[in-house]
Amino acid sequence: MTLMNLITELIFASSNPNKAKEIQASLPGNFRILSLKEVGFYEEIPEPFDTLEENAKHKAVTVAKALSINCFAEDTGLETEALDGAPGVRTARYAGEKANNQQNIEKLLSELEGKMTRKARFKTVIALVLDGETYLFTGICEGVIAEATAGEAGFGYDPVFIPQGSDKTFAEMSLEEKNKYSHRKKAVAGMIDFLKSMQG
Ligand code: IMP
Repeated sequence: MTLMNLITELIFASSNPNKAKEIQASLPGNFRILSLKEVGFYEEIPEPFDTLEENAKHKAVTVAKALSINCFAEDTGLETEALDGAPGVRTARYAGEKANNQQNIEKLLSELEGKMTRKARFKTVIALVLDGETYLFTGICEGVIAEATAGEAGFGYDPVFIPQGSDKTFAEMSLEEKNKYSHRKKAVAGMIDFLKSMQG
């Protein structure tokens, strides 16, 4: 049996169903994502570090060690030029530890008011644990932060992020359209290429 036959079910160490849906939609047909629930892992994994790389690695290694399995995790941040890279690794907690998406978006729009540039980028780092080794894959999507929210689809900051090459926010796009630009899709593509290359 080849490696590709073996690695077609990827365990995604995340409790975010939106991310899982996006990743599943971006995978080649023969790959399937398994959630943590499907493999019997129910704990919340903290993101205590100052970089996306360390947080992604921490999540993947925690699950891989707990269940003695191969798996991957990701961490994503939104970086803005005018705010020197903020919210960055604090993207989920920008308006406070328990902040929801709307509060985070409101804070971002208020911080960007009157700034010369609204340039921003999403960065996703995937950590893949495979037979005890950890491999990192990065995906970046450049864009701008809109003046106001638009659209209902997606999650997180999607209603205010307009990727380069489009005039719509991510929240105005279908999953398939978002995946033409998506940071997460690019990181996943790197991981899939790596898995395919290991087949020889
Ligand atoms: P984390 O990777 O789950 O820590 O997410 C960090 C923050 O970025 C959360 O507020 C997410 O909702 C947000 N986020 C992550 N990925 C995306 C995306 O693709 N679109 C919009 N917001 C996102």
